[in-house]
Amino acid sequence: MLATTNANKAREIREIFSAAGVDIELLDRPAEVPEVEETEETLAGNARRKAAALMQATGLPTIAEDTGIEVGALGGAPGVRSARYAGEPADDEANVDRLLAELQARGLVTPAQRHARFVTVAVALWPGGGEQMAEGVVEGWVAPERRGTGGFGYDPVFVPDEGDGRTFGEIEEATPGAKHGLSHRGRAFRALAGSLGAALHR
Ligand code: IMP
Repeated sequence: MLATTNANKAREIREIFSAAGVDIELLDRPAEVPEVEETEETLAGNARRKAAALMQATGLPTIAEDTGIEVGALGGAPGVRSARYAGEPADDEANVDRLLAELQARGLVTPAQRHARFVTVAVALWPGGGEQMAEGVVEGWVAPERRGTGGFGYDPVFVPDEGDGRTFGEIEEATPGAKHGLSHRGRAFRALAGSLGAALHR
């Protein structure tokens, strides 16, 4: 079972597994199983909480993830609170507006001053006990304005250091799926797939 209710994340996870040749069928969360709140203080805690709730409801092995964008100049914010940075209900547009405003208000303009990283923690839980967890990180910076119509969330303002200066939004607009090679989620889920494979073949 795949615990995420975010359609963009679910699509990306399937694309990442498919591109990596991972032969695991991911079932969507049944509509009647309620979403759990992200009440933990860490990405790992929230990912485990989401997976555990769905596993309890279905009795099936479950995969979940939690993601945040950490900005150095903001003390690591929005971090684990990235989804609700601009308040409830979660709103991607408002979150990006707030992030841009916070950096502008501090007069931070250079890539070094606007350094950021995306972090994804992916977890797999098994009904008989057992857990695999993997983290993926991509370093970059927050662009001063939105660029590109691809991707979702903070993608239009995140420029990966390992790229060519384009935002994830521009990279995804040009070639859907191209961000996965270096993205936080791509790294986390390829690592998770590696440890799942090792666990299944033990
Ligand atoms: P959560 O993991 O569902 O708590 O989401 C964290 C926040 O980060 C949400 O606002 C998402 O839209 C955003 N987010 C998660 N993954 C990505 C990504 O790959 N690119 C851009 N924004 C993302």
